[in-house]
Amino acid sequence: MEATSGRPAGGDADRRLGRRALLVGGAAAAVGTAVLARQELSHLWWRLPGVDKPRVAGAVDFRGARWVAASPANYRQADRPDDYPVDRVVIHVTQGGYRSAVKAFQDPAHAAAAHYIVRRDGRITQLIRELDVAFHAGNRGYNERSVGIEHEGFVEDASSFTDAMYAASARLTAAICGRYGIPADREHVIGHVEVPGTDHTDPGPHWDWGRYMGLVRQVHTPET
Ligand SMILES: [Zn+2]
Repeated sequence: MEATSGRPAGGDADRRLGRRALLVGGAAAAVGTAVLARQELSHLWWRLPGVDKPRVAGAVDFRGARWVAASPANYRQADRPDDYPVDRVVIHVTQGGYRSAVKAFQDPAHAAAAHYIVRRDGRITQLIRELDVAFHAGNRGYNERSVGIEHEGFVEDASSFTDAMYAASARLTAAICGRYGIPADREHVIGHVEVPGTDHTDPGPHWDWGRYMGLVRQVHTPET
């Protein structure tokens, strides 16, 4: 109801205005109600349109991932999946080593970054929260609706793609599919090369889609 009326009634309106005041920096005026408002908002945030979800520094969306922040210039803060539905996973290859990929994503001039990087040894780093729109697909609509996963290596080098990498990346993709209700198929788990308008070729011919999707479905499909 709040979402359609734009003007929620009663207590909700007060809380919302209180939050707005906080957001615009009315700290002195709001200080008395701040604690109460925060407590109430912690239960209500998902019902309030256009309000940032609370964020915890260093928090990750995938258990076991290591957090390394990308430059804010390489993504747009958002409130997915409330403002944009998430219905795609886009698979990339870094065309370089892990360190150079991290460095590029931390560089505000790079103008691109993905949510995750999966290393050859299967370690996963998250650089951008899934809440946010990462600039990874070179297509605004696809960026807004997808999670981007980079893989350390080179498209032309089959040895880039290790067992550990496939296994770790498949667990990550399966978890993303599970969280947003994305079908674990090739319509929804795509390569960068398949994004309309791109001139990128990753993940390239050595990426074993049959094997990868098999692993994703193994984790994604509950065995009952
Ligand atoms: Zn790519």
